[in-house]
Amino acid sequence: MSEIILSVENISKHYGPIKAVNKLSLEIKKGEIFGILGPNGSGKTTLLGMVLDVINLRNGSFSWFGGSKNHEGRKRIGAILETPNFYPYLSAVKNLEIVADIRGISYHEIPKVLKMVDLTHRQNSKFRTFSLGMKQRLAIAAALLGDPEVLILDEPTNGLDPQGIAEIRNLIKEIGKRGVTIILASHLLDEVQKVCSHVAVLNKGKNIFAGKVDEVLNENVMVEISAPDNVLLRKHLNDFNKLISAEPEDGIILVKLQEGTNIAELSTFLMEKKIALTHLAQRKKSLEKYFLELLAESHD
Ligand code: ADP
Ligand code: MG
Repeated sequence: MSEIILSVENISKHYGPIKAVNKLSLEIKKGEIFGILGPNGSGKTTLLGMVLDVINLRNGSFSWFGGSKNHEGRKRIGAILETPNFYPYLSAVKNLEIVADIRGISYHEIPKVLKMVDLTHRQNSKFRTFSLGMKQRLAIAAALLGDPEVLILDEPTNGLDPQGIAEIRNLIKEIGKRGVTIILASHLLDEVQKVCSHVAVLNKGKNIFAGKVDEVLNENVMVEISAPDNVLLRKHLNDFNKLISAEPEDGIILVKLQEGTNIAELSTFLMEKKIALTHLAQRKKSLEKYFLELLAESHD
């Protein structure tokens, strides 16, 4: 079992009649890139504000790092809820020095974070000369000062051009590979699909679904199968040319096949190998359809 980084239980926040966050629970574990996916107005920013102590809870509770109540916990979290106010006429380095001063962090960390966000070559340029994508990367660099275990990003690609979007998404994945747990709020299904390992889908302040992105938001065909000898079955599966992965799961094998694969192709292949299946079922991709409907509704 991996360590629980954030546990949220039944929290709510109401603004008059608006239930911005409504009895929401979720759990985020170490190393996950956790997407909070929902249409505009679904409560993502409010949720992040609450777990960062910027917005007061109406009721419910949350805990960081398994419930350590001390204020050290906050130091382990880097967050960007909105684009920070950098000084336009100061350089990237100077702006980061100001952030470091405020947070009591050594300047020695600055070159490292600039390198991580690929801004070393522009470190002495004034902030106002930066593209939007570079500004966002500098904001991420600032959040990474102090070597946080958790990075929180709210719609980090909003307003960027396609190249800027791709850069930020790659950067988030790179940071995730270093073992930083990332919480990413986004209204973009494809962003969560491309970047996140896990997802919670929000609608009207409620968590309507949570799970692994691989299993719920991908375009690949997911099939459950089993045979009298699952070890032998897995061996043969490795020779199936449309196989992406095959993982044992509670007595069955969860098989991921390339987009567009017909499951008849799989069963024919296995029959040729003289494997009789005792179970064959395709997992529904209902969430993706459901989410697209949700988004469509919210644009009406
Ligand atoms: P998201 O980040 O998913 O777009 P928000 O958390 O910003 O959603 O907002 C959720 C709901 O709460 C929306 O209906 C929004 O209008 C409302 N809301 C957010 N902040 C306030 C506020 N300070 N006062 C009143 N209503 C608010
Ligand atoms: Mg928001």
